Amino acid sequence: MKVPDRHIRTRWPASGSMKPQPHFLAICWDATAEDGTPITLQAMLCKAHRQVIALKSSSARGVRRQFGESCDLCHGRDPTPLPHRSE
Ligand SMILES: [Zn+2]
Repeated sequence: MKVPDRHIRTRWPASGSMKPQPHFLAICWDATAEDGTPITLQAMLCKAHRQVIALKSSSARGVRRQFGESCDLCHGRDPTPLPHRSE
């Protein structure tokens, strides 16, 4: 007797792996605007892009308790400039 096993696998997406979903964290880092003004950028990033930013900017740091559903850079969105505190 054959046991049909096809429908058992449909719980998982086609990638077939059982790895946990990558999660997305808000990261902010210091950058320089086109006119030379120092700015702080923030974006929701996947693990790969967090590493990219960390390599590019030593000021990259996580934003506490901010999690997202998607990566801004993977979706072609620009990082959000944060308003800078003036004295
Ligand atoms: Zn990404």
